[in-house]
Amino acid sequence: MKNAMTIDVEDYFQVSAFENLVKRGDWDSIVPRVEKNTHLLLDKFAEHRVKATFFTLGWVAEKFPDLVREIVKQGHELASHGTHHQRASDQDRATFKRDVGDAKRLLEDIGGVKVVGYRAPSFSFTKDNEWVYDVLSEEGYKYSSSVYPVVHDHYGIPDAPRFQYTTKSGVIEIPLSTLPMFGRNIPISGGGYFRLYPYLMSRWAISKFIAVERQPYIFYLHPWEMDPTQPRMTDASLKSRFRHYLNLNKVDRRLTGLLHDFEWSSMADIYGFNDNSNKELSE
Ligand SMILES: [Zn+2]
Repeated sequence: MKNAMTIDVEDYFQVSAFENLVKRGDWDSIVPRVEKNTHLLLDKFAEHRVKATFFTLGWVAEKFPDLVREIVKQGHELASHGTHHQRASDQDRATFKRDVGDAKRLLEDIGGVKVVGYRAPSFSFTKDNEWVYDVLSEEGYKYSSSVYPVVHDHYGIPDAPRFQYTTKSGVIEIPLSTLPMFGRNIPISGGGYFRLYPYLMSRWAISKFIAVERQPYIFYLHPWEMDPTQPRMTDASLKSRFRHYLNLNKVDRRLTGLLHDFEWSSMADIYGFNDNSNKELSE
């Protein structure tokens, strides 16, 4: 069985943890690193013959259209991370609709492929904003991978289903991966947790997940996690800095381990969203 390799394409200064330090209006004045860092991932995936899903920010696509075309050219799935990296839970319906609609149209224009997948910034779907799926459906998305069924201070729906389910709007939600232990769901999907746990522990958890659940495991990472020398946000809180900078120098080696130890593909490939993507716009 294949597991889903997913990347949230955004720059280091666009993460939710720093949103009060770096205003969206200042993004254009910061030297970007996302293009170079995404290429590190593309090269690694090419080397290991792995196809992935790239949930790409509209802002990044507009600035680096060649990067978007390269993602498509190398056979990966192009998907959406919204336009401005604003938490869904911080937006009203009209603003969210514009954000996800604009991102989809922009990515499709540049990439020349149909975009059907969406991941909310910071897994910001909650119990109170279930209308997000109606909007995703209106805008032509077929699936979302935005729910983390865990207890966390910034995100998560602890009692959400742990595996894919169809929402009332028809959009399919594919939650991030967890392992039930000690009476709660332990997050094992990637990002900060992948940097926190020793590699052997991640490998054990993923192997156990696959053996017990017989479901595709969903992994996620950000391009900035491949960049140990990125500029430091010295004004951020100790907790945010710990979470953002922890073990950045170990990610490259650990990712090589993951690519070697498990089978990977894109969301579209694993869940069969390929029917209309890639072909429709190019024919
Ligand atoms: Zn993000």
